[in-house]
Amino acid sequence: MASGLPPNHTGAAKYNIILQQGLSYLHALRLKTPELKVNNMYDVIIIGGGPAGLNAAMILGRSRRKVILLDSGKPRNRWARNMNGFLSSDGMAPKEFIKKGRAELAKYNVELVNVEVVSATHTKGNFVVDDKNGKVYRSRKLLLATGLKDTLPELEGVEEMYGKSIHHCPYCDGWESRDKAIAVYGPERHGIGQALAMTNWSGDVTLYTDGTNDLRHEDLELLKRNEVKVEREKIVRLEGADGMLQHIVLYNGEKRPQQAMFFSLGTDQQSDLGQQLGCEFTSDGVIKTRRLQHSNIPGLFVAGDAARDMQMVIVAAAEGAKAGVAINIELQEEDRK
Ligand SMILES: Cc1cc2nc3c(=O)[nH]c(=O)nc-3n(C[C@H](O)[C@H](O)[C@H](O)COP(=O)(O)OP(=O)(O)OC[C@H]3O[C@@H](n4cnc5c(N)ncnc54)[C@H](O)[C@@H]3O)c2cc1C
Repeated sequence: MASGLPPNHTGAAKYNIILQQGLSYLHALRLKTPELKVNNMYDVIIIGGGPAGLNAAMILGRSRRKVILLDSGKPRNRWARNMNGFLSSDGMAPKEFIKKGRAELAKYNVELVNVEVVSATHTKGNFVVDDKNGKVYRSRKLLLATGLKDTLPELEGVEEMYGKSIHHCPYCDGWESRDKAIAVYGPERHGIGQALAMTNWSGDVTLYTDGTNDLRHEDLELLKRNEVKVEREKIVRLEGADGMLQHIVLYNGEKRPQQAMFFSLGTDQQSDLGQQLGCEFTSDGVIKTRRLQHSNIPGLFVAGDAARDMQMVIVAAAEGAKAGVAINIELQEEDRK
């Protein structure tokens, strides 16, 4: 029987290709055939239950929409002791914030499911989402609020201290680190901007280049003028207690007293659903959105850190609210008689 496969395929490769073809066929069939059994049909599916997804769920619940929120329970700031800079909840524990948000949704028609979504597809006016347990959901609109994950410095001790005395965002944790001995981790030339920025919060800032030697003469002059010290020795490990940094141990055996560390080494999307759906990304790896969180795919909205804009809890929540309103308006317009 002709398999439609190119020649020279091994048995295993042929099997994989046939399996893929079968899966794509089933997927296409499921999109085209409304009567095919899928578990649920919603006005809106929200993927991600951080501040962006929760706030969107609230606006859509209050708009009397049938909404389901699917969440794998890994908000970006889960490492942190406190969530700062959110008026009325400044300093609240991130876990507490999520718990409170979920409780507030109880009175609306919002289903909350703790599960990871593994795939999402669309055709015109219809989204199909599969969770990790094989359950399938369909909706007219889809909101991605799946967030980002951070690239951490590869240093012994980082994980215990991240979110407690090691941070990436001065607007979130600069105040708590004010007047402390602040280390900025920045190999090559990555830490210059952040080291200069941190002089806003402390007069004791040291840039650690961790054994790299790429700073130019003009960089060193700029850092010196702004009273930033520079340490180029390789770092062996970080030492501290109860999550609080106390020393940076250098390769030459020296131990430098430091009380906080900041870094900025980039982020990645927490899920690949944006790619699966064909979203357009910026060069920084976030999804391009328009003013009210529309993506390039009709009916697909993106809010929070996964989308372009400032990465803070209050901004994510606000984008969730904007997306909620925009989604509801689209549904109203589609249903107008
Ligand atoms: C250590 C640290 C401290 C921070 N401190 C502050 C602070 O003090 N103040 C502040 O304003 N900001 C702070 N931030 C930034 C803040 O965490 C983010 O801006 C905010 O969490 C973004 O919200 P979000 O809803 O877009 O994404 P997230 O909060 O990251 O939530 C995304 C959710 O989507 C879920 N998800 C992802 N993929 C899937 C999938 N495939 N299926 C189902 N669910 C999925 C995740 O499990 C997660 O629950 C901090 C960040 C870090 C890392």
